[in-house]
Order: sequence, then C-alpha cells, then structure tokens
Amino acid sequence: MTPSSENVTWFDGYLTRDEREVLHGHKGAAVWFTGLSASGKSTIAHFLEKMLYRRKCSTYSFDGDNVRHGLCRDLGFSPDERKENIRRIGEMVRLFVDAGIIAITAFISPYRADREVVRKLVGEHRFFEVYVQCPVEVCAKRDPKGLYQRAMAGVIKEFTGVSAPYEVPENPSLVIHSEVVTPVEAAEDVIELLNRTRILER
Ligand code: ADP
Repeated sequence: MTPSSENVTWFDGYLTRDEREVLHGHKGAAVWFTGLSASGKSTIAHFLEKMLYRRKCSTYSFDGDNVRHGLCRDLGFSPDERKENIRRIGEMVRLFVDAGIIAITAFISPYRADREVVRKLVGEHRFFEVYVQCPVEVCAKRDPKGLYQRAMAGVIKEFTGVSAPYEVPENPSLVIHSEVVTPVEAAEDVIELLNRTRILER
C-alpha cells in the first residue's frame, strides 16, 4: 500500500455538520457496543435502531459479520488484523457521524486501545461506548451461531473469551448486564443516555 495522504487535501464540503444536523433534527453520534460474542450487541442494536426510527431519527447499524463480508473481507483475527478492522470501521463511522447520523456499531472490539482510537476519531462528546457485559459461560450457553462450541473444540482459533483476550472498558458511557435486563430495557437505557447527553435534540 502506498501512503497517499501527503498528496491529498481534506475537503470540508459545502455543508457543515451543524446544517446537516438541523435537517435530521438531532446530533450525529456513535453508539459503540462492545462485548463478547453472543453478549447481545446485535440484538440490542437492532431494538435500539427500531426505537430511534420510531422517533424519526436517522440511524445506520454496522455489524461485525456484514463488514467482514465487504470492507474488511481481507482481514483475519490476529491482533494486527483486528486493529485494522476497527480502524477502518472507525473511519467509516466518523463519516456517518459527520453526516449527522446516529451510527450504531456491534463489534466485539476487544482491545481498549483500538476503541480509544475510534473515540478520538469521532470526538469525545459524540462517542458512546456501551459495554454489553455478560459472563462468558452465559454467552457460551446462548451460542446462537455455534461459535463457542467450535472455539472450545479448537476448530476456531483466537476466539475472544476462549483463546483470545477481551479488555473490559475502564470508563464506558453505559454498562448493560444482558444476563439481567431484556434487550428492550437495554435499548431504552441507551435512549435515556442519548437524551441525557442531548444527542436527540438540535
Ligand atoms: P452479539 O452481537 O454480541 O454477538 P447477538 O445479539 O448476536 O450477540 O446474540 C445474543 C443472543 O443472546 C441472541 O440469541 C439473543 O436473543 C440472546 N439474548 C438473551 N438475552 C438477551 C439480552 N438480554 N440481551 C441481548 N441478547 C439476549
């Protein structure tokens, strides 16, 4: 890959983010779900997006599997590749937030440093790290895609929570205990967070 940024100038466009946010009726933000596989990130993201849609918010959800079919299909699961995966997603999310959209992401994103890179990219006041906490035993029991079973059998290598680390967020915007609360209650907690931080208003 040739670094091309030296010859490229960032183009700010003709409209500001403020102007685009007026059109949407809310601010742009990133709701970044992080947690083990099967902790409930995608399920909660799905409910959240539906609730925000009913409030006429402009949203877009990014899901781990979908991104790995396209934008990041050349990447595996080594630490470096996971880092690059999150970097690319972070850049994409940044553009969506700049467009005034509420970007919702559901990626394991196991490394603290990688999540911090995205926080810096998006901006402290627009980035909401939501930790979906769930004991690995419960996740392994849910196992909707049979991944834990295959990881425990050694068929899948470097599986987060089994044979690869997960770094718990130190200061998340919100912690959801998905063993205790329903996906709807969890989504309501996120809406409350977005209300409190005035993302849902202009
Ligand atoms: P992830 O995106 O974190 O890998 P998924 O949302 O794909 O997780 O899967 C979580 C599984 O756990 C789903 O089958 C979901 O129905 C189930 N589940 C049970 N209770 C909850 C809860 N409170 N919140 C979210 N998911 C839950």
